[in-house]
Order: sequence, then structure tokens, then C-alpha cells
Amino acid sequence: MNTRPHLNWIGGEWLAGATTTTNINPSNLDDIIGEYALADAAQMETAIDAARTAQRSWAATGLEKRYQVLRAIGDELMARSNELGRELSREEGKPLAEGVGEVYRSGQFFTYYAAEVLRQMGETADSVRPGIEIEIRREPVGVVGVISPWNFPMATAAWKIAPALAFGNAVVWKPAELVPHSAWALCEIISRQADLPPGTFNLVNGKGTVAGQALIESKHVHAITFTGSLEVGQKVLAATAMNMVRCQLELGSKNALVVMDDADLETAVQAAIAGSYSGSGQKCTASSRLIVHEDIHDRFVEALTRRLSTMNVGPSLDETTQIGPVASADARSRIEAHIAGAEQAGATRLCGGERVQAASEGYFLSPALLTDTDNHMTINREEVFGPVACVIKARDFEHALALTNDTDYGLTAGIITESLSYAHRFKREAEAGCVMINLATAGTDYHVPFGGRKASSFGTREQGQYAREFYTEVKTTYVNAR
Ligand code: NAD
Repeated sequence: MNTRPHLNWIGGEWLAGATTTTNINPSNLDDIIGEYALADAAQMETAIDAARTAQRSWAATGLEKRYQVLRAIGDELMARSNELGRELSREEGKPLAEGVGEVYRSGQFFTYYAAEVLRQMGETADSVRPGIEIEIRREPVGVVGVISPWNFPMATAAWKIAPALAFGNAVVWKPAELVPHSAWALCEIISRQADLPPGTFNLVNGKGTVAGQALIESKHVHAITFTGSLEVGQKVLAATAMNMVRCQLELGSKNALVVMDDADLETAVQAAIAGSYSGSGQKCTASSRLIVHEDIHDRFVEALTRRLSTMNVGPSLDETTQIGPVASADARSRIEAHIAGAEQAGATRLCGGERVQAASEGYFLSPALLTDTDNHMTINREEVFGPVACVIKARDFEHALALTNDTDYGLTAGIITESLSYAHRFKREAEAGCVMINLATAGTDYHVPFGGRKASSFGTREQGQYAREFYTEVKTTYVNAR
């Protein structure tokens, strides 16, 4: 283990925090990854000040240089995705292929937004008053606070940092406590960009309740983009509203995958495996509710249980692992409590939900499938965030659609069907930001908008060209041409 703490990057310097935290591999509790700086509120203020000072010079940096900086970050992430993906999986616990895929995807966000740097076009209009011309252009918002979760430690941050920088903003990034190394590794690449004025990008690792709270309460940031739980998101919304700071939230979910009676069984099982259990079900896009037509219910449940019983649960870096550990001891206890509560309420646990003894000690849980559940049970209302899916029987399409929409959340929704008519209606009537037809609910592209409805999201969409709305301000200029 490297005993020197990994530092925060503030104002173009590596700085020690007020304290440090120890980062432990959830697949192997004897494997200490390292020590990482934890900022206090004062250090967060220092970072915000540095960002305010640097932002103007970054916005004044020519487009070509800005393009080159984003391109270089993206290219390096993609080129080093095997090495950095390994570190990400070691820290977060997702299987190696998913860790490598996440780093590569993070690079794609940077190269995509590098291209967007060059695509910043304005508009002109004639005034209703003769001789006056109008120019409509977009300007940077200013200082953007980025707060990210642990489950996609690099990708969620990349899809915020890349557009923020592309549109000329400065960034203060507060990553999640559980995953400081992925944040540090991305920051290390960004810190080497000589054309990025010092202070344009700042990494402030720290506790949410300390450094995060200082960031959301600051009157000196211009926008906060947050991905995390509903509970913390509500705090972010309240704090930013008080200061009239722009805010964007991507939050929890309770996504449904509908399996209709005409579904191709293999497609349905594969979509459930990928959607409900990849990343140990710790995805905001996970299909934790499987809404299954009663005529296919028994066949589907039997096929899925058979498949789940063959899945390898184990350390993230073992290449045969299909399901890694859950994130922490707390997460495992919370998931187990949810399963026990559902069983007490009448659910049947067909498989999984048991601690798995692997070669190393980690937070392993076998993938659980619960049947005989209804949509009112707590397990089908609250986010479980673990390798657990609950089957709810539906009488027909109308019932399945009503169940899909009967939730406080609305991030993704999927349907497996051969019917064009069901697919068409589901596409239009599902109350979700992303709809999947004959696909898993998890797994989205990087060049199109991403986000949800109801309690899953607040504010404008992330990703693709839609991100411009959040990271820019519109200015309308009137010119008297005479
Ligand atoms: P979390 O809400 O506990 O933490 C998210 C971030 O907020 C962390 O960086 C944390 O340190 C910080 N934070 C905590 N308290 C804070 C405070 N008082 N002020 C400011 N910041 C504070 O979420 P998590 O456990 O890291 O992530 C899991 C959650 O994220 C799940 O609910 C999941 O659905 C959600 N998520 C959503 C999306 C999406 O795009 N909708 C994507 C990934 C994860």
C-alpha cells in the first residue's frame, strides 16, 4: 500500500486535507487501497475561490485549446481504460469488464464534449424596431459544483465535468467518500493539462455533510449538478434554492421491466439479468421491479432462477466473476433488511440474498429473486440498490402499464414484447425519462439526453447536446446598426 495520502487538487496545487480516510477494497477487506485527503469546509471555500478566479481565463481560452484539452483527457482515459478500470473495480467492486467499460465510457464523454466545444453556434434575429439587430449567444454559467455518487465513480463525474469545461466553466468536484481513488485518478489526468488555467478544475474530496454541505450552501458557485440519493438531493435543492443557484439533480429510482405474455423468453431473461443484477443491482437504471404477465410468469421465473443459480459471485478482479460485492457493510445490512421485511410481508424468496464465502472476505451477496410481491410492499416502493429483483404479476397490458407508473420515481422503464402495439403504447405512456423496448433498463448511450421524471430527476437533462442548457446562460444583445 502507498502510505502517502492522495491529496486534493485545488488552485493548481496538490493540498493535504484536514484529515484523511482509508480506502478499502470491498472484495477483499485486507486490501487497503490507500489514504485520501478529506477537506473541511474551509478548504472547500479555498477551492471555490480558486475556481472563481480561474473561470474567466478559461472562458477566454481559444476554442482550439479548449478542444485539445478535452480531447487529451478523453484519449488518455480510453488508452488507459484497462489499467484504470482495474483500479475502479478494485475500489467500487463492479466486475472487471464493467470497470474497464466505465473508464472507457468516461473518456468518450470527454471526446464527445471536445467536439461540442467547436459546435457553439449562436443565433441572430431582426428586431421589431427598424435598424436594430439582435444577437443571441450562450455564455458560461461560471463556477459549477459537481457532486457525484459512488456507484459510477468516474462516469457520472465525467458526464458533468466534460460539458462544464467544454462550455467555459470552472469546476469544483466533490466525489463520494467510498471511491476517492477513481476521482483522484481522473483528476491526475486533468491536472497535467498545461492549457487549463490553475483553479479551473478542483478536486475536493471530503465528507458529504462537511465539504459537500459547504459547496451546496456557497453563494459563490453558480450551479450545482448532483447525482445521488433522493434524500440528499432534497437537501441540495433546498440549499441552492435559498441562494438562487441553478441546480440539476439525478436521483434514485424504482424501475420496472415488463415481461408480456408474447415475450421472447430468452430476451426477457437476459434483460432481467443485465438490468437487475449487473453492477450488483447498484445502478440508478436497475430494474428492481419485474412486472410479469401471469401467463408467462411461471416459465419466466423458472428460467431466471435457473440462470441466477449459475452466476459467479466473487471478487471484482477475478475474471470469472459476474456479480461483485455490494459497496459496504452498511449497504449489505440494508439490502438484507429489505429482503427480510419483504418476506415478513408475504414475499417468497426463490433464491439468493445470502452471504457468499469467496476466496477473500468481502461484502458478497448472492442474487435474490422474490415472487408473490405486490406493488404496495416497501421493497417495491423504496430503492434497495442491491442484487435483488421482485416479481409482480400483471393480468394484462393495462395492468402492467399501471403498475409501471405507480411509483414515486421515473428514471427508466422497459418492456419485452413482440407486439408493436404494446411497444408503441408503452413508449408513449410509460412515465419515465428513458424507455427500453426489448432491452434491459440499464445501459444508455453518451450522445443523447439522459434523465428521469418525478422524484428521479430535477432540472434540465444531462448528456448529449441537451447538457448545454444547464452549463450555459443565454444572453440577448440588441445592436443599433445605424
Ligand atoms: P448519496 O446521496 O448518499 O451521496 C451522493 C453524493 O452526495 C456523495 O458525494 C456524498 O458525499 C454527497 N453528500 C452527502 N451528503 C451531502 C450533503 N449534505 N451536502 C452535499 N453533498 C452531500 O448517494 P450515493 O449513495 O453515493 O449513490 C447512490 C444513489 O445515487 C442512489 O440513490 C442512486 O439511484 C443514485 N444515482 C442516480 C443516478 C442517476 O443518474 N439518476 C446515477 C447514479 C446513482
